[in-house]
Amino acid sequence: MRSIAVDGPSGAGKSTVGHALAVRIDATFVDTGLMYRALTLAALDRDVDLDDALRLGRLAEECVIEVEKPSPDQRDRLETVRLGGRDVTTDVRTPRVDRAVSAVSRHAAVRDAMLGVQRAVAMRGDVVMVGRDIGTVVLPDATLKVFLTADPEVRAARRAAEMGRPDRVDEYLAEIRRRDAADSGRDVAPLRMAAGALILDTGELDVEACVDAIVSRLEELDA
Ligand code: C5P
Repeated sequence: MRSIAVDGPSGAGKSTVGHALAVRIDATFVDTGLMYRALTLAALDRDVDLDDALRLGRLAEECVIEVEKPSPDQRDRLETVRLGGRDVTTDVRTPRVDRAVSAVSRHAAVRDAMLGVQRAVAMRGDVVMVGRDIGTVVLPDATLKVFLTADPEVRAARRAAEMGRPDRVDEYLAEIRRRDAADSGRDVAPLRMAAGALILDTGELDVEACVDAIVSRLEELDA
């Protein structure tokens, strides 16, 4: 079984590249950011204090969060995320969730609960898993570790274009800088480049070129 860990900061293109890679090598694609987003939505909807690690940990244990392949007619998305059976894919990509998600994901109790679910998926077959701590914590024995990155300005411009709001690029840049600092500076499972990771700059390489580079590295490993 093969597992490819793809980590990197917000807006580096992890989902786009990870999904294209999964299609190319016929693996399951899992975006762990969606899981943290779904839990954050649950916490916000229940008015849970985002500093309350105990309560958030319990919520993470209780919530049934599933990520699955979208139906063929859902071309607007790479994955569907469900919270207690409800499709929350659109609800988790809102500024409200963007602002709160780093505060939720920083707690050890939350991450412990997520770890079991994420590792279980990787046990079922070939997987491309994207996030912040996949190569360092979730799948330390991954077949290949990839770190995608790009300048914050490049990532902000890309996010603004995706959202159809080029006029808001400065707001996206501020949000990206804030989330970079929070995700890299936290005590538990901070965003770090895994040792031996293949580093790709998505400001310089397009999606196909990134996938080609990863597949070449996999072929080298197989040889
Ligand atoms: O990748 P995405 O931007 O959707 O992730 C949302 C947030 O979830 C990140 O900013 C980070 O706080 C958290 N996250 C994490 N560990 C992961 C994936 C995401 O802490 N493996």
